[in-house]
Amino acid sequence: MIRFANVTKYYGAYKALDDVTAEVGRGEVVVVCGPSGSGKSTLIRTVNRLEEIASGTLSFDGESVHGPLKAASLNRLRSRIGFVFQSFNLFPHLSALENVTLSPVKVNGAKREVAKARAMALLDRVGLAAKAGAYPGQLSGGQQQRVAIARALAMEPPAMLFDEPTSALDPEMVGEVLAVMRSLAAEGMTMMCVTHEMGFAREVADRVWFMDAGRILETATPDAFFSNPQHPRAQKFLSDLR
Ligand code: ATP
Ligand code: MG
Repeated sequence: MIRFANVTKYYGAYKALDDVTAEVGRGEVVVVCGPSGSGKSTLIRTVNRLEEIASGTLSFDGESVHGPLKAASLNRLRSRIGFVFQSFNLFPHLSALENVTLSPVKVNGAKREVAKARAMALLDRVGLAAKAGAYPGQLSGGQQQRVAIARALAMEPPAMLFDEPTSALDPEMVGEVLAVMRSLAAEGMTMMCVTHEMGFAREVADRVWFMDAGRILETATPDAFFSNPQHPRAQKFLSDLR
């Protein structure tokens, strides 16, 4: 579903991604982990072209993401990839319900009443039906992040990307966001998640990708990765966590 082949990316002269080849299969949950600065965010951001790659190929659902793309194609691509960031990026002047309704109406041309009903169902699903009328400033971090997930789901994306969705949250709110992600995974959503939540990786991931210095050094099942990491850098990373 998301296929990287020999992907390289530079920031100026600095090589942030170095010959990355890997694939997230349909319905698969991949957790990307690795030390700070290893290129996790850069990698995930190339998928909806928030970052341009220098060489290699990258495709999403069989369509090329790199190379010349018309603005309309890029917008269509982005509308098919749900992206949830560390910072929730909700529109502060819109209610939770309006945040979730906006894109389906503006981008997809959905009828307002239809989009609203669907948004309510999504807010219910993330446990926030009672907060539909609340503004982001009136919501906790965990609640805002769940609205952000509902907003991404409103476009009915075939895949979801998460870049440290819980790392800006107070510890007591991490669980509620991970629970929503866990339920998405259980429903078969294709997911690529950058996270430091190794418990989540253990329980939910189909595969773990370990990155260091712009390369994927190891891909393994969580069982294999956590009990018997192969690469010395992965071994060090895991022992530093303990
Ligand atoms: P973290 O765990 O801290 O979020 P990361 O694995 O997500 O780290 P990236 O943000 O992908 O790492 O950064 C990879 C490398 O590229 C780092 O060395 C970083 O300093 C560098 N980098 C990231 N963004 C830029 C940028 N816009 N310009 C220049 N260098 C950048
Ligand atoms: Mg990052």
